[in-house]
Amino acid sequence: MNTAQYRWPNGKKVGVIVSIDFDGEVPYLWRTRKSPPVGIGDLEQRRFGPRQGIYRMLELFKLWEIRASFFIPGLIADKYPNAVEKIAEGGHEIGLHGYRHERVDEIDAAEMEETLQRARASIERIAGQRDMGYRSPSWEMTDYAFQVLHRLDVLYDSSLMGSDHPYWAEGFPEIPVQWLLDDAIFYRYSGPPSSPRNPGDVVDLWRREFEGLKRWNGLFLVTMHPWISGRASRLQAVEVLIEQMKQDPDVWWTTCGEVADYHRKTYADEFHEKVSYDIE
Ligand SMILES: [Zn+2]
Repeated sequence: MNTAQYRWPNGKKVGVIVSIDFDGEVPYLWRTRKSPPVGIGDLEQRRFGPRQGIYRMLELFKLWEIRASFFIPGLIADKYPNAVEKIAEGGHEIGLHGYRHERVDEIDAAEMEETLQRARASIERIAGQRDMGYRSPSWEMTDYAFQVLHRLDVLYDSSLMGSDHPYWAEGFPEIPVQWLLDDAIFYRYSGPPSSPRNPGDVVDLWRREFEGLKRWNGLFLVTMHPWISGRASRLQAVEVLIEQMKQDPDVWWTTCGEVADYHRKTYADEFHEKVSYDIE
């Protein structure tokens, strides 16, 4: 592990990325594909995202002049083209996130390639042709998944937690995620024993992580889902943190695509890590 501090452009101390995994009901449909339930409650809870949550988030980003990085399953683009059109119109980044939110360890390389090509076509039909990065559904990766990303000329990966600043994984800039900065672990509720956390507590925790990452030149990459964080009180809580970070001169407000580009140009010979499965 390289213990050198990461250096951000223009002497900034922390990179800040707001990333949105626009999943809606799609992961639920994938998980239940073999025995679809008759109840529609879980689906409706998730459909709140594409119906309302996404538009509130876009409103907030416009207000605070934030360009976010959206990762969108192809099926969401096919089912909710208007929402994806609005994301593109807002100047946000769009990246790949499977077609049906397929976990890469549950499909083989050929299936993954096919689903990503299909997803890319669905997104580009609405948002226009573009180069895209990748975030794996459920943040799982495999050796062959990286090979598929190379074949499809994907720009970067943003699925792993092996560092809290960008690094190289299998030839790709890895723009690292982490559970601590994911809304789902605090809020997702589909019956006991889970219990949603107070938005004030969650944002307080995120603020502490932000302050720590600033000390160690890390990347504050928060991940939110419109069906989870699009809820009124949660959005208002995160807005307070955005307001604070917007006043901080040490922040580089950026996107996954920009960070990947910066990393590629700046660190060709640094921060390489071996990530393939190896127990030796
Ligand atoms: Zn997802």
